[in-house]
Amino acid sequence: MGKNTQLVLNSLKKSPKGLTAYQILNIVLKSKSIQPMTIYRALKDLTNNGLIHKTNKNKTFHLCNTTHVCNMTEAHEHNAVLAVCNDCGVAEELKTDLFSKIIKSIKSKKKFNFNNFNLEITTTCKECN
Ligand SMILES: [Zn+2]
Ligand SMILES: [Zn+2]
Repeated sequence: MGKNTQLVLNSLKKSPKGLTAYQILNIVLKSKSIQPMTIYRALKDLTNNGLIHKTNKNKTFHLCNTTHVCNMTEAHEHNAVLAVCNDCGVAEELKTDLFSKIIKSIKSKKKFNFNNFNLEITTTCKECN
């Protein structure tokens, strides 16, 4: 894992609520002069590897929160299921594989590959209820 990728991961470790790409860039810039493209590429790689997840609603990135042992150096693809609050924007990665069987059994005319699906559930958190 490259140094820049590590800086991105570190910024997210300190921000349990998640960060936008722009916020991550600003945090990394405090310790290092870096091109925005470098950050965006690191975010893309980490997302593809399943080490971080992005919410479509808030465009924030979150560290993967799965229960299996993860040393943050290897890719571990899985079907991420994120719940996002409509009001305050807090996000949580749900520890469930309930959706995997259902979604993978869907027939698609456009031959979508459901093996690597991600799911985002927008709803209301306990604080905002
Ligand atoms: Zn995850
Ligand atoms: Zn909320």
